[in-house]
Amino acid sequence: MIEEARYFETELAVIGSGIAGCAASIFALNKKITTAQVGNTGAVAYTTGYLDLLGKLEGDKGAIDNPWDAITALKDRCPDHPLNGISAADIRAAFNEFTAFLGECGIAYSSPGDSNITALSPAGTLKKTLCVPATMAAGPKAFAAKTACVIVDFKGLKGFSGKQVVANLHKQWPTLKAERIVFPEMLSGEIYPEVMARALEVEKTREALAESIKAVAGNAKVIGLPAVLGMHNPDFIKTELERLTGFEIFEIPTMPPSVPGIRLRELFEQVFPEKGIILIPQQKVSSLTFDDDSATLSLTDNHGPITIKAKAVILATGRFLSGGLEAHITGINESLLNLPVTQPAKRDDWYFEQYTDSRGHAIHKAGIEIDDSFRPIGEDGRPYHERLFAAGIILAHQDWIRSRSGAGIAIATAYKAVEAVDNFLHA
Ligand SMILES: Cc1cc2nc3c(=O)[nH]c(=O)nc-3n(C[C@H](O)[C@H](O)[C@H](O)COP(=O)(O)OP(=O)(O)OC[C@H]3O[C@@H](n4cnc5c(N)ncnc54)[C@H](O)[C@@H]3O)c2cc1C
Repeated sequence: MIEEARYFETELAVIGSGIAGCAASIFALNKKITTAQVGNTGAVAYTTGYLDLLGKLEGDKGAIDNPWDAITALKDRCPDHPLNGISAADIRAAFNEFTAFLGECGIAYSSPGDSNITALSPAGTLKKTLCVPATMAAGPKAFAAKTACVIVDFKGLKGFSGKQVVANLHKQWPTLKAERIVFPEMLSGEIYPEVMARALEVEKTREALAESIKAVAGNAKVIGLPAVLGMHNPDFIKTELERLTGFEIFEIPTMPPSVPGIRLRELFEQVFPEKGIILIPQQKVSSLTFDDDSATLSLTDNHGPITIKAKAVILATGRFLSGGLEAHITGINESLLNLPVTQPAKRDDWYFEQYTDSRGHAIHKAGIEIDDSFRPIGEDGRPYHERLFAAGIILAHQDWIRSRSGAGIAIATAYKAVEAVDNFLHA
């Protein structure tokens, strides 16, 4: 293979392709900031598709119904939490802009409301979230109204059981039932959500599935299915299946990697280049340097070296799963620039003895510090560089898993980081 050196110049370079990185590219696009984005899949393919803002407050047992009120309470409970510096109006605007973009590109979402939605998890437990894909919206409504419903699962599909969903919900939803059917032309062996989703893009498969659903629906008004309603046009496939069966249909997320997450990844990878974003997918930046006029990102893919020169950079490299932070025997490091990481004083303090300790584990709040303009703080306690900004779960002082706030932190901080970049570029 002949190696060719490639060189790009942009106003903004986004490092990371998780929800924070992709949200930053969308917000930059809407502000007409030229952008290059580098990163591999990240946690997007693992997500349920739900966009959480805040589902739990530290120290509370119960889940949060009104995340907007809870954000006010967050100021007392976790004063350094990254959402604290962002107004409710900005958080709402960020969610609106992000979900509107997804809708325009073919994956409709509910708009952020005044309260959380009670959504179904793959195991049939309940979780609070702010926005759900349109393909899932009928589930929470049917649960609230206790509408007669059948959860349909499939022979050979592991990790999703209609019976388990019913077992967990039957006290709260007495009219819920479960049925198992064979997925069209997948009669034997293990079957996989991604393959089922792609198969449902074919009309004949939808017609055959509709017949099987009708045969087991009984007196149900609504049908719940694992999230397999197509990879690229889920809203169309849901509508088609509703037309063919005569029932309202909703999806429930499956265990990761999940189709709704893969849909988002494929949408970003298809749409970003069409809209003029320079996308270098499935790669990692190996070095980032700054001079007075610009930042330089270097990486190498199968075709050779790539250099990106940008006026500003957003670091959205996530935590341990995505490699933004690295845990070593000596402590936790930020992997690209060796930025200072706020972390427990010693390794013994990373975890409490009990895995399920209600206080949460200190390691899950490790991350980098930022100033009011979303600029990471360097060793000397001042911004590392005027051209460097950060967003997403790499930021310290939040335990997004425990507080059910993953997408909320990613989207809201990306919104503010892009706003800060815009101010910097046009100062
Ligand atoms: C199993 C699972 C289920 C989840 N379910 C939900 C849910 O139901 N609701 C919800 O709101 N959130 C959920 N989330 C969380 C949500 O996906 C994350 O909170 C959110 O994606 C965090 O976004 P992020 O962009 O900050 O980080 P990440 O998603 O971790 O992305 C970081 C990115 O940085 C890239 N990167 C790292 N180093 C480099 C480098 N040197 N160069 C280039 N790129 C680099 C990685 O490849 C990756 O693309 C879930 C996450 C997981 C893992």
